[in-house]
Amino acid sequence: MSGKRYLFTPGPTPVPPEVLAALAEPVIHHRSPDFRPVYERCLTRLREVCRTSSDVLLFTSSGTGAFESAVANLVSPGEPHLVVSAGNFGERWAAMTRAYGADVDHLRYGWGESPEADDVRERLREREAKAVWFVQSETSTGVVADVQAIARAAKEAGALAIVDAVSSLGAVPCETDAWGLDVVVSGSQKALMTPPGLGLCAVSDAAFAATGSSPRFVFDWERTRTAQRKLDAAFTPAVSLIAGLDVALGLLLEEGLEAAFDRHIRLGRAARAGVKAMGLELFSPDEDRSAVVTAVRSPDGVDAGDVVKALRDRFGMTIAGGQGELRGVIFRLGHIGWFDVFDIATMLAAVEIVLADLGADLERGVAVTAALEAYEHQPVT
Ligand code: PLP
Repeated sequence: MSGKRYLFTPGPTPVPPEVLAALAEPVIHHRSPDFRPVYERCLTRLREVCRTSSDVLLFTSSGTGAFESAVANLVSPGEPHLVVSAGNFGERWAAMTRAYGADVDHLRYGWGESPEADDVRERLREREAKAVWFVQSETSTGVVADVQAIARAAKEAGALAIVDAVSSLGAVPCETDAWGLDVVVSGSQKALMTPPGLGLCAVSDAAFAATGSSPRFVFDWERTRTAQRKLDAAFTPAVSLIAGLDVALGLLLEEGLEAAFDRHIRLGRAARAGVKAMGLELFSPDEDRSAVVTAVRSPDGVDAGDVVKALRDRFGMTIAGGQGELRGVIFRLGHIGWFDVFDIATMLAAVEIVLADLGADLERGVAVTAALEAYEHQPVT
């Protein structure tokens, strides 16, 4: 295996050197004056990135822990909830809300389909729900849903809108307050350019007012909010990760959220242009919104798992394979967070070599040029 390693998955993602340097600082005590300013700035920056004036609760957990906080605080046994799924992570909402005893109406799309607000509207007309649980960026398929439209459908029916933005926050617009999103869940290891280990949850006043009876302790929102407001975390937080996240959010805000969204659109365009130039078939939609991960159908006769393995063995490069029913069928090129067009060029060049070695019939020598050209065009935002 080559010595150099490349991390091209849709999470965890590469971490900028400034963030790595912050992570390497000596550990500070979480109830000391050394930590409080870092904590305060990090929480303020999180609100800015989530575009909310509500509290953003920070948990020492992966994104799924923040998921669980939403379910444990909002679901009471027997309550009606609507879950929208079109892939692995929507399925996780369904499994978790059921595990907490919700009476789940499951609006289930095929993997790779895009959820539609009108379908949500119709389901809510047929059966009311306390909350609608859905996914902004379905990382397993590359589809990015129209969150604003789905949230509007939920609000019209008087339901809370709960969004999994684990792979999308910081990469594509997620206007928590302007779109009326009641809960936005995310994690540190995706577009927020920090190692895994922090889950976060932006919670509206309406969601706080709707908390239910399920047992909870570590993930209790009220306990967490009360402590955070005093800059005194309820339990020992991952101080080093918070210091790293603070620096990462500073970098993101210095670039500017709009500029970051534009960059991600262009990265997605570049990846898709390169894939198509090679003659491969896209699995994720060929649209600007699909700016998080590009899912590619493995060519006939080539198992996508072999592509993933060959990239790793030959070039030290990690991309993602397919999940669930897409295992062996697709491979996924991540491009969120600390990515630029030369990362796209590198992954396309390597994919081309590996696929040719595996016997795929493809156009050689054109993908990188197509990607670089596609990246140049400014998005109309
Ligand atoms: N939701 C989405 C859309 C994700 O991409 C992921 C992780 O890949 C998760 C949820 C789960 O997050 P974690 O693995 O941090 O628990």
